[in-house]
Amino acid sequence: MRRLIAKNIGYPLYDLVTKCNILQTSEFLEKTQWWSKEKLENLQLIKLKKLLKHCYENVPYYHKLFKKINFNLERIKSPKDIKKIPILTKDIVKNQGSHMISQIHINKSLNFSTTGGTTGSPLIVFRDSYSESWLRASFYRFYKWMGLNLGDPRVTIWGQRIIGKNYKIQFLKNVSDWLKNDYRINAFNISTEKSIKHLKKLYKIQPLHIHGYCNAVYNFALIAEKYFKKKLNLKAVSTTCEVLQDFHRKKFKDVFGCETFNQYGCVEINLIAQECNYHQGLHINQESVIFEVMDEKINTNSRSRKVIITDLDNFVMPFIRYQNGDICTLLSNKKCPCGRELPLIKNIEGRIGDIICTPTGVALHPEFFTHLLNESKISFKYNLKKYQVIQESQLELIWNLVLDRKLNNNDKKSLEMYIEKFLPAMDVKINIVDEIPNEKSGKFIYVKSKIRNH
Ligand SMILES: [Zn+2]
Repeated sequence: MRRLIAKNIGYPLYDLVTKCNILQTSEFLEKTQWWSKEKLENLQLIKLKKLLKHCYENVPYYHKLFKKINFNLERIKSPKDIKKIPILTKDIVKNQGSHMISQIHINKSLNFSTTGGTTGSPLIVFRDSYSESWLRASFYRFYKWMGLNLGDPRVTIWGQRIIGKNYKIQFLKNVSDWLKNDYRINAFNISTEKSIKHLKKLYKIQPLHIHGYCNAVYNFALIAEKYFKKKLNLKAVSTTCEVLQDFHRKKFKDVFGCETFNQYGCVEINLIAQECNYHQGLHINQESVIFEVMDEKINTNSRSRKVIITDLDNFVMPFIRYQNGDICTLLSNKKCPCGRELPLIKNIEGRIGDIICTPTGVALHPEFFTHLLNESKISFKYNLKKYQVIQESQLELIWNLVLDRKLNNNDKKSLEMYIEKFLPAMDVKINIVDEIPNEKSGKFIYVKSKIRNH
């Protein structure tokens, strides 16, 4: 019954209320996924030219840039010609501020999201219902790749607001989740006891899909395995934000009886690529993004290169040739047995963070610290450059921050108070430091637990 309500009322109503056009866009994407390479590139070219024209006419940063480089739209004959435009960095976006926003959208009602600040200052990204429609339609298509249908019962394990809950927004979210048959678990408020309660409920609901931060789903799987004998028997698990490894896939298969589908996105561009049921790499959503990698390798022993992405759908705050800081290996000539010609990414080397566990069974997801810095506005106020949390022992936490200036006492106390609330009895020491080194391996771990091993 809930499935029918979700399919026939929940999803169409969501389109109507948010003024989006997701269902129709996803029907289009159902067709384009089988298009040839040439036809897909032609679609990209049409969308790219429209976006570049708009940028020149309406976005101050691009208007100035295109004039400076003497850019001529007529010379764009293929999506590859985008290389004529200089790379956009996080620092440029930050320094340009409102010059990145389209003048014809500036006073309209817009959605926004905030990027993390672990290795750079956070950004606020604006988009409208047109961009939202494309990105959500890509999600709907991804559900189908996982063998799911719209309306199937699903679980989302994700972070929720930490500071000053807006009850009206929360109520609307709950209604929307109910209508879409989605059961939500707060990744920032998880303990063994709470997970057991959620799991008891899930055995009644019998969801077909769990989606969430990789390590949050993994932690949930460990508890399900320890306290429940029966498998949940899902159709799919999908994870994002963190590197999905073979041991994660194996655990999800053992505990939930299904395959895991890796998904890649970032706040600035949103959904970029995801796996199909052949798991040969992540198919790029070519209808919405132009995906490039830098010519130079990261080092001579590796095939990895820095990622550059263009979002073809965001006309409000356009990201053209944006270097988001991620590193990947592209499988340019590999064909997937599924028959889709959407190009494949082998793997993404994203952010690494451990879950903080306490003796009382609390398991706090590392994204909590990013959300807390952004919600408290501390990351903006002090121009946060980098941070690292280290759990030294079971009840000892060190939080190193690279800021422009010293943290005032009120802000410091506020951070300590929220740590106390979410990690009771934990002793936290906040330090302002000049620099935070990477690991010996060259990787940076933004939340590191010295007591937890997988
Ligand atoms: Zn495939």
